[in-house]
Parts: sequence; structure tokens; C-alpha cells
Amino acid sequence: GRSDHGQMDMTRARMRLSLQEHLWAFFSERVAIPAEEQAVARRAALDICSELRVFLHAKLPDMPLREMYLSGSLYDDLQVVTADHAQLMVPMILEKNLWSSVPGEDTIMNMPGFWLVRRENLEYFPRGSSYWDRCMVGGYLSPKSVLEVFEKLVAGTINWPAIGSVLDYVIRPVVPSETLTLEVQYETDRRLYVDFLPLLMMEDGVSLIAKPHRLAADRHENLWRQSFRVAETARLRALDQEDGGCRCACLKLAKAVCKLNPALGSLSASQLTNTLLLLSEREGDWTQEALADRFISLLRALVGHLEAGVLPCALNPKANLFCELTPLEVDELGYTLYCALSDPESLLRT
Ligand code: GDP
Repeated sequence: GRSDHGQMDMTRARMRLSLQEHLWAFFSERVAIPAEEQAVARRAALDICSELRVFLHAKLPDMPLREMYLSGSLYDDLQVVTADHAQLMVPMILEKNLWSSVPGEDTIMNMPGFWLVRRENLEYFPRGSSYWDRCMVGGYLSPKSVLEVFEKLVAGTINWPAIGSVLDYVIRPVVPSETLTLEVQYETDRRLYVDFLPLLMMEDGVSLIAKPHRLAADRHENLWRQSFRVAETARLRALDQEDGGCRCACLKLAKAVCKLNPALGSLSASQLTNTLLLLSEREGDWTQEALADRFISLLRALVGHLEAGVLPCALNPKANLFCELTPLEVDELGYTLYCALSDPESLLRT
């Protein structure tokens, strides 16, 4: 009857309140990284970046690069649990008249969110006219080949033990790695992974990164990945700033949950950020008091997208951010999150 309902609502309200409390406690105990730890990690990354700049200028003065810079969640206050990774962006300069970008949906692969970079005017500017022709495969600039050039340099030519001993770090290239990664041990028990990320800034503001398609197949080898990270992170932050919202806190909680639960490890920051952006279009209340409710909304939204097998990118709805998950992964993620809906606290017991 009526009073049963009232009872249920009370219990539910109490559960909600306690989930809210648990989320904030989890946030301060597990998710947030002490400022000092972040500072030391940033320092180590910067030291490496400076060394590499010096090395590349000296060793390869002809290589057309803009200045390398560090980026990623460590620099946006979005890293969680441990300060253990950063990206070293390596912007490559392409001659405008020699290279053009072709959106993935206009190719036989039909892959929105990915691009091909085609060599133009080969008859007037033969092979060798562009420095990056050495990374051309079948008429296209191959991100795989670009990564191999850097890999040879970074893993083969640079004397990391010597540089490491000067900086007082232990530095070694991680082999094998799908991208190119340096492991920097900067204290006995602290490690930082720095990913090399070659980057193309195309004419129309499109930025492309040399990060291989997760389901490595030969036909994907020439695909450059469009990066939306800067824009999507800025949009989430701007929304929070407008209404004092808890979207970034919610993102960090979800990232930590995924980092700490092996069953959820394949969900990326970008997938979580985009789910939050799409949710923000439907859901108005992002006050700090609504954190637990919005955390549940986020789980529910993820389950929905996984059931559909599609997560549209908020900045380019044609791109499906789940396209690199296998059907089995989609099922397993969906199942884990679906179970978590009835017991969200289980996600915090790690
Ligand atoms: P986190 O690694 O989960 O903390 O999330 P980040 O927000 O730092 O995202 C890093 C991931 O995004 C890496 O896997 C990168 O390869 C990828 N990524 C895509 N575009 C960019 C970009 O423009 N900058 C950086 N730093 N990473 C990018």
C-alpha cells in the first residue's frame, strides 16, 4: 500500500545518501592524486621532454617538426589514482601542396573519425620532395611507418642510461608497445609512462594522431585517428563552469572505477567524457548534491550505448567511439555495468 511505498522511498533515499557519501569518500581516498605526487611526475616528464628536444635538434635538424609538448590528463587535472602517464605530442609539419586529408567515411573502409593522408602532385614533386615521403605507403602517409621512424630514434639511437643517470631516473623504452612508450622510474616505487604521439594539424583545424586502430588489421594501417580530446575536455569543463557542476568529478570517479576494475579496463577517458557530454544534453541537474544520481545516470547511459553497440562522438556524431571494441568486450562491459546498476557500491570495493 501507500505506506510501503513511502518506506521504499525512504530506504532508497537513505541508500542514495550513503552512495553519495561513499562516492565522495572514495574520491578523496582513491581518486584524487596528491598535488606533490602530480608535481614530481610533471617534473620528470618535462625533464625527458627537454632532453628529447635537444637530442632531436642536434641529431636531426632537417626533420620538419614543431616544438614537442606534453599533454594529457596529468596536465588537465583529470588524472586519477596515480600520476603515472603523460603524452609527449610530436607535431609534424607537412607541406600543404603535397599532402591532403581524406575523411574515413569517404574511403572504402567507411570509418568516420579516422582519416587518410594522401600524397598529392607526385608527378611535379617526385618522391623525396617531402621529408615525410619516407613514410609513404601506397601513396598515403603511414602512421605506422612514422612511429617506426621515431621508434628507431628513441629506442635505438638515444643513450637513455646516460641521460637517465644525469637526471637521476631510470629510463627505458617499453618493448613491445603499440605506440612508442618510455618508462621513467623517478623514485624507487614511482613510475611514469610517457607515450610518443606524432600529431598532424590539418588545414581545417582537424588534428590527427598516429595512434593505431585497436583492432589492428592490415587495412587499418594507413588510418590516422582524429583527436577530439582538446575540444571534448574543454566542453566538459565549460559546462561545469557555467553551473558549478560535478561532471568532471563524475568523470574522475568513473575513470578511477575503470582503472581499478579489470573488467572495465577497456573503457577510455574519451568514451566516458563523450557519454557525459551526451548525458548533459538530456540531464539538467549537475549540482554537487546530485553526484550520486548522475553517477547512476552515467552507468545507465553507458549500459544503453553498449546495448546499442554505438557511442556517437559528441563532436562528430558519425564517429562511433565503440567501433574499436570487439562484440565480446561490448557484451562483457555491458554485463558488468548492468550488474553494477543494482549495486553501484560494488564498483568502489577494489
Ligand atoms: P587518461 O589517460 O585515461 O588519463 O586520459 P587522457 O585524457 O589523458 O587521454 C589520454 C589518451 O587519449 C591517450 O590514450 C592518448 O593516446 C589519447 N589522445 C587522443 N588525442 C589526444 C591528445 O590530443 N592529447 C593527448 N594527450 N592524448 C590524446
